[in-house]
Amino acid sequence: MAITKEILTTLAQQHDSFYLYDQAGITECAERLKGAFPFASFLYSVKCNPHPQVLQTVFAQGFGADAASLGEVLLAAENGLTPDQIYYSAPGKTPMELAGAVDKATIIADSLHELRLLEELAARRREPLCVGIRLNPAFAFDGGAAVPSKFGIDEEQALAFLRRNDCPHLRVTGIHVHLRSQVLSADAIGVYYRNMFALADRVEAALGRTLSYINLGSGIGVPYAPTDTEVDLPALANMLQGAVGQRKTRIFIETGRYCVCRNGVYVTRVLDKKESCGKIYVILKNTLNGFIRPSVARMVEKYAGAEKPAGWEPLYTGRDSFGFYPLAGETTRETVDLVGCLCTGTDVIAENIHLPRMEVGDILVMTNAGAYAAVLSPWQFASLQKPAELFLRADRTVLA
Ligand SMILES: *Cc1c(COP(=O)(O)O)cnc(C)c1O
Repeated sequence: MAITKEILTTLAQQHDSFYLYDQAGITECAERLKGAFPFASFLYSVKCNPHPQVLQTVFAQGFGADAASLGEVLLAAENGLTPDQIYYSAPGKTPMELAGAVDKATIIADSLHELRLLEELAARRREPLCVGIRLNPAFAFDGGAAVPSKFGIDEEQALAFLRRNDCPHLRVTGIHVHLRSQVLSADAIGVYYRNMFALADRVEAALGRTLSYINLGSGIGVPYAPTDTEVDLPALANMLQGAVGQRKTRIFIETGRYCVCRNGVYVTRVLDKKESCGKIYVILKNTLNGFIRPSVARMVEKYAGAEKPAGWEPLYTGRDSFGFYPLAGETTRETVDLVGCLCTGTDVIAENIHLPRMEVGDILVMTNAGAYAAVLSPWQFASLQKPAELFLRADRTVLA
């Protein structure tokens, strides 16, 4: 990572709280993925971090866009991506949103109702329309029985639709499935990939022709806690290659967090410090309202009672997902609660944490703040000033 203590100290003189994203790190992660899967194409899930320079960096690596809204479709199009590089997949798209996206993106229908809307849209335009369909397959991520989902069309219903073939203007050219995020076991993802190609066979049988793309969704996780291990990408690539076999279909892998999660930090400042009934509170700028995930983690762990509460992405990943590093370099330690400056007792990011001693004015750095960080935080709460989002270019200059 190119982010150094010196860079952070300088920036902290101008900003009480800020995100900093590292272009060199993002590029390196994108290259690692491409290197491991030379036979696949990648789509960046814009929703995890749509910062303009982050988008430019991943798109410059040849990534297309996994767009979750019309807004994200337009962002990707403004960055020069073409309709065959932008895949618009989300539940509950409106007729207006579909009309706004139709010339800019490949639309992935999320329901039978949406297929009807798309048929009407194509009929009005008097043009055939190529669409993808998002499926809720007849298997779970781990290969077990299907589970109910608000996403996509149940496989059985989708196959019946394809056999009926009663939307004359639509041509289904691809499928999309995304069942799980943040999986660290290559074997587990490999099982899912194998099942995906069996699904593609069933879809092609119902269609009576081959698909032009199979979008495998995400799944590839990143290590958050110190005990987490990297996904074995070469092993996973081998399994995927085996599952692809002789197919000529284009393969998409989506990823949000892989490229950016580790390549972003959140930096905040100690505003005040006090002792109450024997407990030491370190009061920080913009925590729950600036980087909500550590606060959500405290809440989940407080109420779940379990030793290892299950992840619920992107709000909760697991214990110890975020590192807290005071920058001052103090060697004596003390046990403190890290809290924010909001007028609510729930604005807590760590309780009874043993850290190098911090004083008012000191800087605290939090890790894993590149994905689902700035975008998830409730900035409107209490009308405080929101954190800056800064970008460290590969040439070491910082863009505000
Ligand atoms: C959010 C999302 C992703 C990204 O997941 P990551 O775990 O960040 O890689 C991929 N596909 C879909 C459909 C999503 O909604």
